[in-house]
Amino acid sequence: MKAKFIIKNPQYLIVFSFLISICLGILLYGTIQLEKKLEDKMLQISISDVISISKNSSQSIYNLLKQSNNYVEDIKNNEIIHRHIEKNLSLLLTKNIKYAYLLYRDKKGVFRFLADGAKDNDKAFINQKFDIDSPQWLEIFETKEPILIKQPLLHQLSITYLIPITKENNVEMILAIDFSVEKVEDINQIIKIIKYTIMSIILVILLFIIAFIIQTMKYVTAKKSAFVDKLTNVYNRNYLQEYKDFINLSDYLLIALDIDHFKKINDTYGHDVGDKILKQVANTIHLSIRINEDIIIRYGGEEFLILLKTKRNNHLSALNVLERIFTNIQEKKYKISSDEFINITVSIGVNLTPGKSRTFQDAFKLADIALYNAKNKGRNKIEIYSSEQNNNFYMTINDIKDAIEENRVLCYYQKIVNNENQETLHYEALLRIITRAGDIITPDKILPVIKGTFISRNITKCVLNICYEQLKKNQNIHLNVNLNPQDIVNDSILTILKNYANESNIANRFGLEIVESEDIINYDAAKRNLLMLKNLGYKLYIDDFGSGYSNFIYLTEIKTDFIKIDGNIIKKILDDKISYLVVKNIVNFAKESNIKVIAEYVSNEEIFNKIKELNIDYSQGYYFHKPQENFE
Ligand code: GH3
Ligand code: MG
Ligand code: MG
Repeated sequence: MKAKFIIKNPQYLIVFSFLISICLGILLYGTIQLEKKLEDKMLQISISDVISISKNSSQSIYNLLKQSNNYVEDIKNNEIIHRHIEKNLSLLLTKNIKYAYLLYRDKKGVFRFLADGAKDNDKAFINQKFDIDSPQWLEIFETKEPILIKQPLLHQLSITYLIPITKENNVEMILAIDFSVEKVEDINQIIKIIKYTIMSIILVILLFIIAFIIQTMKYVTAKKSAFVDKLTNVYNRNYLQEYKDFINLSDYLLIALDIDHFKKINDTYGHDVGDKILKQVANTIHLSIRINEDIIIRYGGEEFLILLKTKRNNHLSALNVLERIFTNIQEKKYKISSDEFINITVSIGVNLTPGKSRTFQDAFKLADIALYNAKNKGRNKIEIYSSEQNNNFYMTINDIKDAIEENRVLCYYQKIVNNENQETLHYEALLRIITRAGDIITPDKILPVIKGTFISRNITKCVLNICYEQLKKNQNIHLNVNLNPQDIVNDSILTILKNYANESNIANRFGLEIVESEDIINYDAAKRNLLMLKNLGYKLYIDDFGSGYSNFIYLTEIKTDFIKIDGNIIKKILDDKISYLVVKNIVNFAKESNIKVIAEYVSNEEIFNKIKELNIDYSQGYYFHKPQENFE
């Protein structure tokens, strides 16, 4: 527990170590001072005697020269005085006082001997040159005060004591005494050990601190990189996993953002350009948010989750940030090569009150449902899911599971009418769930909730089974079911379809409508399976053709039997020139490829006349028939 606390708060350990180092540093300083003090004390004791006998000696030199006008000349020339002085000096010598001598400085400033207390064989002669070994010697001519010159040797301290001999305030001569003081070895030894021990401890602590800082930095960067998406440099899902329990959802708006038609960008310009655009989008979001408040997470391939900090009753500033993100992405030019730029758009789902959900997952699901609505309404939109609307609007996964178990999944059927003779052979089976209260729920309230889950597969199986039974019962009708690309690569669904095809007169009346606007994960497998199903006799339809992303490869490589033109285009065909031209071109293309065309959302006579004029083969829509439980 403690260790964990320290790892999470390494600064405490570092501060603690620093404090110890400082204490030890003070101790070290104290020890060094103590060593100096001891040395000084020893020195004082040893030299006090030397100083007093030296004073006596200099005094007796003064006495001898009382009559003299020129000290140096008189000593040089008067042998009696010279001998007296040397005798005087020799009396000073002891075991510790090795030399005592009298010097003068000649006109050139060279130091020379006048008298030397040493024994005869060792004695310097008058005028013998003396080399000074320290500039301190010269100071005495200025200060005219005695000085002590220390030279520490290994086991002893060698000292020269200099006393000026003055006449009329001029330094005429210098009395020099060389002596040595033994160091007290034992005390020195102990002090040295203490000193080195403290120094080593400080060194070890410093090394420890350095190692710890390096380790901590490594840990922090490793941890950080585990939470950051390498491509976009925003947080990844791991971050969410680690911190979702610490995020108070009531403080945020939850935003799900998905790039529109991103697959098309990848397909057109290549995956690398796709990556670059992802990076730029993340960067644009990053530049639009409030750095210390909002959080960006790359939630999936090109889907981002954004947490915008908000006040409980006032979402205004958070919504401003959202608006900024949306328009900045829209207005930015995305570089795809050195001189080519494109625009992109995003769809956004907002959960205004994530705090009301029990878990993060639940809150996210609501933002995702809003995102799904934004996509459905044509993309490049912000849709808000608010719990204030209607909480029971969408079914929950559990409701859907229960409905499957309790056999409350059923189909409604809508006619597909032949435009030429207005005969009906074909029907599209449309998913419905009936609630325990008896309400009929449509796919737009079901599919967003189960998208990508195994429940989606189970629902498909239910619908297939219902249609199979209907085809057996009604031998003269044709029935279409909706499959999504994940269904086509699912083994258990393929097995079911293969089994149906073993019976006669089933597959040839079974139409498979593939919702082609959805992502195909494994394109090769999907293509292989579709060809196999076609060979088994199934009719293949492309659903919602022309809605956003339209995959012509399906048509050319698999050669489907029908195209269903997206209802959103048909709806606009009367007023919108572009929609009209799109439909016209799709029809031309289909005719040339020998593919039959169906128009969805034929809701009135004018639209019907228009599509007939365009040579579209079949119609589906309220003008002819609303979906209902049976075939009539
Ligand atoms: P929609 O408007 O419905 O969102 O259409 P879309 O094409 O964006 O469809 P969807 O969101 O389902 O597909 C996302 C695609 O993003 C699928 C995948 O090929 C692509 N993708 C996912 N991750 C990455 C990535 O890291 N780099 C690139 N370049 N592409 C990615
Ligand atoms: Mg997506
Ligand atoms: Mg997308």
